Amino acid sequence: MKVLEAACEVLEPDADQRARVRDQVIRYSEKFLEEIDTKKAYVTDPDKGAGLLDSPLQEDGCDISEALELIGKHVDTPGLNPASGGHLGYVPGGGIYFSALGDYLADVSNRYAGIFFASPGAVRMENQLIEWMAGMVGYPSDCAGNLASGGSIANLIALVTARDAKQIEASNITKSVIYLSPQVHHCLFKAIRIAGLRECIVRHIDLDPNHRINTGHLEGLIRQDLADGLHPWLVIASAGTTDTGAVDPLDSIGDLANRYDLWYHVDAAYGGFFALCEEGKRKLKGMEQSDSIVIDPHKGMFLPYGLGAVLIKDREKMFASHHYQANYMQDANRNAEIASPADLSPELTKHFRGLRMWLPLKLHGAKPFRAAAEEKLLLANYFYDGLKEISGFEVGAPPDLSVVLFRYVPANGDVNAFNQRIVDKVIEDGRFFFSSTTVNGKFMLRVCILAFRTHKQMIDLALSILKDTVNALESDHAIV
Ligand SMILES: *Cc1c(COP(=O)(O)O)cnc(C)c1O
Repeated sequence: MKVLEAACEVLEPDADQRARVRDQVIRYSEKFLEEIDTKKAYVTDPDKGAGLLDSPLQEDGCDISEALELIGKHVDTPGLNPASGGHLGYVPGGGIYFSALGDYLADVSNRYAGIFFASPGAVRMENQLIEWMAGMVGYPSDCAGNLASGGSIANLIALVTARDAKQIEASNITKSVIYLSPQVHHCLFKAIRIAGLRECIVRHIDLDPNHRINTGHLEGLIRQDLADGLHPWLVIASAGTTDTGAVDPLDSIGDLANRYDLWYHVDAAYGGFFALCEEGKRKLKGMEQSDSIVIDPHKGMFLPYGLGAVLIKDREKMFASHHYQANYMQDANRNAEIASPADLSPELTKHFRGLRMWLPLKLHGAKPFRAAAEEKLLLANYFYDGLKEISGFEVGAPPDLSVVLFRYVPANGDVNAFNQRIVDKVIEDGRFFFSSTTVNGKFMLRVCILAFRTHKQMIDLALSILKDTVNALESDHAIV
């Protein structure tokens, strides 16, 4: 036993050993942050991080300097740099620093955030954050909610709750109808499958020219289904679709959900935090009518990845779908004053996620987050206007939030192939990163502005890179 004890002693480094490793980690992260403005948003590396595998996991440990070198070279270099202000692709994240310190504290103390009896303070912190977000989206303060790992799991929790609340079961599932926009995030289709709802009838609602749900069509579908003896039970809207950034008409969908007694779910994973500013609040009006809503602090609050929130108005319903009982939990259940996160989600043991959101919110206050939300909306319009100034670029309607869709129409040749080349060139250059999508069969370029490090200077740079890129490609073309 003594020999074993001696062998595992290294798991508890002393203060000097801790300081030595910590100092190097801090030095590494400080260098990363100091260089962030000059680092590329995307690095194309032929090795694609494979060099990491040349250093196998072994019986004996290595020095921190060696570990940091591996991380720096093979992990923090190739691919996308989500911490960069040049990240204008997909839905940007960020990585605010005080959140990292929150994680540090959470990991050192390792408080058990899943159960009130184990850590009443951690659970109260989570609830305080849920209540703060409830206020932001216009929900009552006694709603229930959960800090999940991301929007996908948060959406799953909402759909499972909706399923049980509406008693969708084997006996009625094939007659039960779900209404959604074909533009909903694919995690909702995943959630439908995982929640055992694949046998429901799923109706795709027509969209208007701005990619928003056509509520006239939605109502027509519901009425027809009722006339046919079917059971309409769920409508899903998006408060900012991932593809086009469109905000569905949340108010009128709420009215319909109310009139026809449907569970109304709003996926605001991308757009929810724009409600922090007045302009965003106006655009998201109506989301407060929903029964459940998902918002992603690791998007709109710039937290490092690993936090998506779900809010559900009827807390009994959320509890009914997720609570459990087990003999080995009897002490915890007897000492529960308030519902534990573990009663409201599929997770039992979970990372103490609250601290990574609470610490930055406490230290900064809400004000800078409101300013950032407003700034991103303005930047999207600025980018949109800037594109219109460059001849050859074609844009659609002004952005609902901060996604801008566009494409370049070349003097001659295949439009889609030309735009694909623009994407390849820009990513190869790497100073900013964006993505493409296909809308109504058209290959479209797509920018989403949400990183907290993205400011006007970066948008000017992106516009000038796009201009230079199309000029270079057009002259290549002319020579051929
Ligand atoms: C990002 C996103 C999701 C998925 O959330 P994750 O945090 O990536 O799991 C769901 N819906 C929308 C609208 C999103 O933008």
